[in-house]
Amino acid sequence: MPATKQTFQHPLFGPIIVTRNPRARRIIMRARPDAIYITLPTAARESDIERALEQHGGKLKELRQNIRPAFIDKNFTIETRHFKLCIKEDSPDGIRITGKEGAYTIHCTRDFDYSGEGQPILENAAKMALRHCASLLLPKRLKELAGTHGFTFSCCSVRDSHSRWGSCSSRGSINLSIYLLLLPEELIDYVLLHELCHTVEMSHSERFWSLLDRHTAPAHAKALRNCLKDYKVGLFPK
Ligand SMILES: [Zn+2]
Repeated sequence: MPATKQTFQHPLFGPIIVTRNPRARRIIMRARPDAIYITLPTAARESDIERALEQHGGKLKELRQNIRPAFIDKNFTIETRHFKLCIKEDSPDGIRITGKEGAYTIHCTRDFDYSGEGQPILENAAKMALRHCASLLLPKRLKELAGTHGFTFSCCSVRDSHSRWGSCSSRGSINLSIYLLLLPEELIDYVLLHELCHTVEMSHSERFWSLLDRHTAPAHAKALRNCLKDYKVGLFPK
């Protein structure tokens, strides 16, 4: 039997999307920006949904409201230690980016359409600002850390990679993602030290992790790696 989907508006908890799935063993509830999603076994009753919502609906509604939608509008801002970005509707025509030293503004027209085709235009503008800032700061920070921790690398390039925070080739050339700038300070350094350790140990062996541990001390390398798992590589890391 295929999974069936049902959508309804709950008077207390807002939009709910229920999927009955024959492979589901128990009730699973998730908060997403558009609704609370419930997956449940085919045999579950309506009263099971109501009971689950009574128990967890309040918390899920709160979670849902705190999820930041992946959308850029005139109120969009990024504010991290090294990178700040905001939008101003003060351009006479078209899109412009201004800024330096980590604080940038995307200027668009008053009647800019933020939906549809407007989104990729704004995402590109934000990426350009990030790339500019990242290419100024990340290679410099990598060099600093290499100096302090006694590593050498052949070159460093900064890319808008969505798949990984960083990588290191067997020749010691290090690639860093521009989105690193959106991470907390200690996680930026963790990724940079991680790649620097690969100039000594290529694989993620025991030796690699104990080497990295020595350089991230007193923090444990694997604890930092776990923190990093909370972030996605991209413009909307959380
Ligand atoms: Zn690695």
